[in-house]
Amino acid sequence: MTSRIRSVGIVGAGQMGAGIAHVSALAGYDVFLHDLSEEQIESGIATITGNLARQAGAGKIAEEAMHQAQDRLNAAPSMKALASCDLVIEAATENEAIKRQIFANLCEALNPEAIIATNTSSISITRLASATRAPERFIGIHFMNPVPVMQLVEVVRGIATDDETFEAARHYVASIGKTIAVAEDFPAFIVNRILLPMINEAIYTLYEGVGSVVSIDTSMKLGANHPMGPLELADFIGLDTCLSIMQVLHDGLADSKYRPCPLLVKYVEAGWLGRKAGRGFYDYRGEKPVPTR
Ligand code: NAD
Repeated sequence: MTSRIRSVGIVGAGQMGAGIAHVSALAGYDVFLHDLSEEQIESGIATITGNLARQAGAGKIAEEAMHQAQDRLNAAPSMKALASCDLVIEAATENEAIKRQIFANLCEALNPEAIIATNTSSISITRLASATRAPERFIGIHFMNPVPVMQLVEVVRGIATDDETFEAARHYVASIGKTIAVAEDFPAFIVNRILLPMINEAIYTLYEGVGSVVSIDTSMKLGANHPMGPLELADFIGLDTCLSIMQVLHDGLADSKYRPCPLLVKYVEAGWLGRKAGRGFYDYRGEKPVPTR
């Protein structure tokens, strides 16, 4: 059963979907990438091609492996084009209504034996599974950003996930050379349960004027040995994703310590979503990132 996964479908060709497609194609899977429009799919494929070339240029992968991975990447302009996939990983926008609609459409398109996984950062796997026809074949496979670089993948079972699906997910994660951490299905799982409250606190520290963007990031880099400052990291994750994870923690655990910082809300309202939007706590439109506060 575990080796039956040959082709992997990915819904959402943004930063995470492109990364998951990248590592899956390098590991030998046929990959089918779907998004809302052909332009978004093509832009995802262009990102992957560029990142593969960068890895080959740095000697991290062989030229031949790069070409083979490129050949395994396919655009899937409709859900129907995912019909032959054994595993489909949903990596669309962190919004429950969007994800539920995707699962309903996937159930129509896929072989009933296919496994559906979600890369959600925070939404309940059990609740998302209820939007599918076969909750026993639904699981959380949660990658870290950037996918080609980060070693960890959290695997999260919903209440109904069966052992076969869990083992298939474990096998897939091992086959792409990543390390698994099994997390229970509670809001934001392990990494984001710990990481996002720290980022939110850094934004409160900025909001209350305790420090500037630069002093907060410098403090955590040099004072706590973090490779990136928390505000830089928030921009990297995407401020909309950060806000949505804090909302899930706040709603799911009903504890005021998870209250999203009003400044984070304001940045999201402004469309300053971080790196992907060209502006967040830093402005990335020039040669060097410049703090926006
Ligand atoms: P992103 O904004 O870069 O990409 C999301 C993509 O989903 C976009 O290309 C969008 O067009 C597409 N999309 C939206 N609705 C769709 C639909 N109905 N059908 C098909 N595609 C659709 O976001 P991202 O950072 O790649 O995050 C995607 C998922 O991964 C979210 O669930 C997020 O929580 C999770 N995640 C993000 C990170 C991170 O650091 N950014 C880390 C781990 C997990």
